[in-house]
Parts: sequence; structure tokens; C-alpha cells
Amino acid sequence: MNKLQQRWQWVCAWRLWQLRPLLVIWYLLVPIAALVITGVTLAGSLAALTSHQLILAGALLGLGVVQAESSGHVERVRRSVNTVRHVNLTSVWSFAATLLLPTGLACTVTLLLLTHHGVRSWTGTRPLHRQVFNPAAVLVTIPPVQALFFALAPYGFTSGGAPFRGHTVWLLLAVSVAVIAYWLLDMVLIAVALALLGDRARLRQFSTDMTNNALDLATNCLGALVAAILVVAPWLVLLFLIPVLVMHRSVLVKELEDKATRDQKTGLLNATAWRQQTERELARAGRTGDGLGVVMVDLDHFKNINDRYGHPAGDDVLAAVAAILRDETRQYDSAGRFGGEEFALLLPENALGEVGSVAERIRVRISELLVDATTSDGPVQLGNLTASLGVARYPNDGTKLIDLIAAADDALYAAKNNGRNRVVHTDADAHRGYPVSGLNGDNARSRVDQRRVGH
Ligand code: GH3
Ligand code: MG
Ligand code: MG
Repeated sequence: MNKLQQRWQWVCAWRLWQLRPLLVIWYLLVPIAALVITGVTLAGSLAALTSHQLILAGALLGLGVVQAESSGHVERVRRSVNTVRHVNLTSVWSFAATLLLPTGLACTVTLLLLTHHGVRSWTGTRPLHRQVFNPAAVLVTIPPVQALFFALAPYGFTSGGAPFRGHTVWLLLAVSVAVIAYWLLDMVLIAVALALLGDRARLRQFSTDMTNNALDLATNCLGALVAAILVVAPWLVLLFLIPVLVMHRSVLVKELEDKATRDQKTGLLNATAWRQQTERELARAGRTGDGLGVVMVDLDHFKNINDRYGHPAGDDVLAAVAAILRDETRQYDSAGRFGGEEFALLLPENALGEVGSVAERIRVRISELLVDATTSDGPVQLGNLTASLGVARYPNDGTKLIDLIAAADDALYAAKNNGRNRVVHTDADAHRGYPVSGLNGDNARSRVDQRRVGH
């Protein structure tokens, strides 16, 4: 096999081609636009570049490389910890370049910084298309952000070559608009990718992730200050390095805390964290007299999926079911992965049957679920999945967590024994009129079914 054939095979093996066509187009369109914008604007401004601009570009590039080299280990750990969103601190330097340099040079500095960052923090676990898309999304935001900034502050940080001495309140407004636009446009481009992926839960998690949104905005603010210092007293910019490195470390601590409570495959709480959160809720309910429901969810015949399509396809199903659980629960509910294909929910109950209706909705959504799964023979779409659910209530079925879990587990086994694909309430609750639901279990649709195979 010659080199060309090897390259072709490598391209054919990209995970990108397994995605939906619209998503493939989006993942290709943004990087191509980024390359075209960088190439065209750089070629257009090359002859007019001043030595001062080149020195600024070199300084920002140097600072970014020093920062990335000094925090390579922290960044690699962060990358392996993060599941939904990863904000790197490169924009401290690239946003400064956006505010100070012509578009072509600002894009080039950003491209070089993000490429260096990507190579140095490469863990091999992220698919190539995402590794390329995220920097490209940053690059395409540069021209619109610059257009907004210079529309509001035509001289930027300088006034006729000298440091800005005009209305600093006006400059503050222009910088603030640019900070928000740089953050928001990047978010929108990534959000479109998640929307095309059809993962509503991840999209919600992404857009409401306050820690990373705040970090993103904070790095842009620092970038604006770097730009201002470079204009007024350039050498003082070195003072930024230490706070940026310390900030980076403190972000990692927060992310590690988060990881310790999350199940990596599904992003739900892990069993220990779910228990801890539930114990706290039970103690609170004991004080306030509120009702609570514990729901155990177990996928039916899940072993068949692993046996027929392999473990990775089973993992895709687990992730898709977890997305339903996240979607059907609110922020103050707790959804956890309890064991292999068993999940647990804790829901506050204000009205009779509320927990039962959430459980029933989850059962129905799982039964309607179609999962795009990966197998060694290529992509398959899996359907006809079902789950059995057991529901117990506080305080009817017990006041201790161990008793509530045991009661919900008994109800779950009753659901399994009565044909699966149903919600069963504990005996105590059944006598109070909580219904058994979902009556077309094993008899009607017993096995996982592959609906469609294709790209
Ligand atoms: P039932 O309807 O009685 O619940 O049958 P089942 O096949 O779902 O239950 P069983 O307990 O026999 O099998 C559970 C399977 O879950 C066995 C195990 O291989 C699989 N499993 C556990 N953890 C994971 C995981 O993280 N990923 C994948 N793909 N499979 C897992
Ligand atoms: Mg099972
Ligand atoms: Mg099980």
C-alpha cells in the first residue's frame, strides 16, 4: 500500500463520517471558513503590517507559548476530566490580539496559539473533528468582534498612534461589547453543533455551565487588560503570567471536585454522590415535611445489546438513556448511575402521583428511543429498547435511604417479573391507588431491535 492509499484510509476512518450529514457539513464548514478568513485577511494586510504590530504579535505569541508550556500538565489533566465543555485560557492572549492587531495577524496569532495548545494538551481521546472545530470556531469570531469593537471605538486602544486618551467610559463600553461578543459567538457556533447532534441534554448542560461560562468571560476580560497594558506600559504585561497560571490551577481543582461526583460514561451523579445528595434531601424533607420519591430504573435485556453489538454500542445506549433522565429531571432532582445499567432518581413530590408520572414519561421515552450506536461493523440505529422502573415514596415506604432503595428495588423486581417495560409502585403505594403502567412488556416487544443501518 502506498502512502497516498494509507492517507486515504486514515481519512476514511475519521469518526466524523459517522455523524449526521448536516453535522458533517457544519464540522467542515467552520474550519474551512476559518482557514479562508485567515488566509485572505493575512494576504490582504501583509504589505501594510508595521514592525510595531509584528512585535506585539510576537509578544502575545511568546506569552501564550510560555503560559501553555508552564501549565501543560494541568491542561492535560483538565482535558481528561472535562466531559461537556473545555475552556482553555488561550484567549487571554488571542483576545488581546483581536483588539490590537489587524484581522489577518490576529487570526494568525490565534491559530498558532491554539495549534500549539492543541498539540501540547493532546490526549488522543477526543475525535479529530472536535479538536479542529473548536479552534476554528474561535477564529471565525474574530472579524465580527473586531467590526463591533472598531465601530464603537474607531481608534481602539490608541488615539492617532498614542495611547487612548479619549472617553474611557466609551472605550469600556466598546471593550465590554467585544468581550461578550467573543464569548457569545463562540458559544453559538458550538451550540449549533450540539443542536445538530440532537443532544438536548448536553446542549442545556453546555449553555448553563456557569463555571465555564464565567471562566470564558474572565479570560476575555484579562485579554482586554493585556491589550491595554501592552499599549500603555508593555513590560508590565509579564505580571499577567503568574495570575493566569494560578487561575488555571484553581480551575482544575474545581473540575476535579466535580469529576469525583460524576459517572464518566453518562455524566450523571455516581452512586456515592447520589447517595450523599439523597441523604441530604431526606434530612431536609424530615425538617420540612415534604414528600419524596425514589425511582430505580433498570434497562431490560441490556446484556443482549452488548452480546449482539458490542460494549461500545451498549455504552452509547447508556449515554442516550442518561440524556433522557437528565432531560426529565429538574435542577433540584438527583439523577445517578447506580450500577451497570441501573439508574436511580430522587424527586420531590408535591402532588399525588407526580413521581409516578415522571417515571411513566421516562418509560415511554426509553421505549421510543432510537440510538445511533457505534459497532465494529459501522454505525447502527438501535430501537425497541425498554426499561423497568420501581417507585418508592418517602415517608410511606420508609424514612431511611436504605429502606427506600430496598422498597424501590422490590418494586423494580416486580416490574421485571410481570413482563418488564413497566412502572411498578410499592405494595403500600399500590394500595393507595398508584397505578401500574406500561403493559406491553416482554410479550409484545421482547428484544432490542436494529431499525436501520446506514451512514
Ligand atoms: P434484565 O432485563 O433482567 O435486567 O436483563 P439485563 O440483560 O439487562 O440484566 P443483566 O444484569 O443480566 O445484565 C446487565 C448487563 O449490563 C451485563 C453487563 O455486561 C452490562 N454492563 C454493565 N455495565 C456496563 C457498561 O458500563 N457498559 C456496557 N456496555 N455494558 C455494561
Ligand atoms: Mg437490566
Ligand atoms: Mg441490572
